[in-house]
Amino acid sequence: MRNVIEIVRDADRYRSSVINLQASENAVSPNVIRAIGSDFASRYSHIENGVNDYGGTRFAEELEDTVSRKTSELFGLKHAEVRPLSGHIAAMTVLAALVRRGESVMKIPESVGGYTGYSGNYLPKMMNFKSYDIPVTADGFVDYDGLAKQAEYIRPKMILLGQSIFVKSYDMARIREVCDQNSCIIGYDASHVMGLIAGGEFQKDLKKADIIFGSTHKTFFGPQGGLILTDDDDLYRRVEENITWKTMDNYNIARMAGVGVAIEEMMKYGREYAPRVIRNARNLAKALDEHIHIKYGPWYTESHQILMEPGWLSSHGYDFVRFSRVMEDNGIIVDRIGRIGTAEITRMGVDDVDELAAMMIDAFKGVDVKDRVNKFVRNMKMRYYES
Ligand SMILES: *Cc1c(COP(=O)(O)O)cnc(C)c1O
Repeated sequence: MRNVIEIVRDADRYRSSVINLQASENAVSPNVIRAIGSDFASRYSHIENGVNDYGGTRFAEELEDTVSRKTSELFGLKHAEVRPLSGHIAAMTVLAALVRRGESVMKIPESVGGYTGYSGNYLPKMMNFKSYDIPVTADGFVDYDGLAKQAEYIRPKMILLGQSIFVKSYDMARIREVCDQNSCIIGYDASHVMGLIAGGEFQKDLKKADIIFGSTHKTFFGPQGGLILTDDDDLYRRVEENITWKTMDNYNIARMAGVGVAIEEMMKYGREYAPRVIRNARNLAKALDEHIHIKYGPWYTESHQILMEPGWLSSHGYDFVRFSRVMEDNGIIVDRIGRIGTAEITRMGVDDVDELAAMMIDAFKGVDVKDRVNKFVRNMKMRYYES
């Protein structure tokens, strides 16, 4: 068996030699790496009723306060909870705080990209709440009239928006109306699109949601983590009561420091980054579509993701797994559920996706493009951080 540090070194070397198009991932800056590798990595700090249970925490306390305030400022929301260890833990904390046993939520069906954790066997089963699918139209988007009708019947405590396959934002005004009529809360899981939203893109009227939460590492610039955001004092208080010794004890202070650095990077560069991510996604879709069919042409996407169609792929002898393997053999990394994402390449300085599309098309046809990929990778350079 090899030493772990050798595996780590090889993984670093490998990942810096390939093009990453996975929609759930991003690259972190050297400053974020510095923060997550700091002394904070093995410290504790919790404040209960104004007193810290640990000593030596003056900088940890300053850190938590600073990161939380800067997060609020970045998103323009009054309260920001930055301790959740991941998007899933953030979701769990919100659900534990706001949905009681036996109550119902309505969520986006998994079949159109809704988050698996909200389906029956996962969080609902563990936490004893009921989970119903929001009706969708034939093309896979929310059926607002259907939702209005079903909500009257189901009387959900929460309408839980957000999805893992996510190319179109919602009509928040319609959903707000439904929730106002049925006194429910709108929860918005922004895991995939947090970095786009921080940069002023995608769901522009997000504030019509009551509570927003999600991951810090998909389109956002951070290490893996979660955020919870709200303007509502009461919802925030209830969330706060469900953290320490409930969904978490320590919150990986060094991770939070990394998130804090990412927040600062977003404050400075988010408005440059987010529109470029979306433009890259659309341009890539356009360039691929004639040879590798991409869904929802001619608009394709409002986000960082573009989607392939399993039916079209199988008529060309591929499924998502084989497509991913063929790309991977050439140094191009895509997931195995048909998404192609442009967050990381955009962060790595790519503004022109024509050669990337050409390499993917050639690889798809069986041509070896490894040398071209190497050349492409050598020209990538991280941006949007203080060097
Ligand atoms: C990725 C994802 C999560 C889980 O996020 P983690 O940070 O991996 O825990 C939750 N909800 C949605 C919609 C996601 O896409």
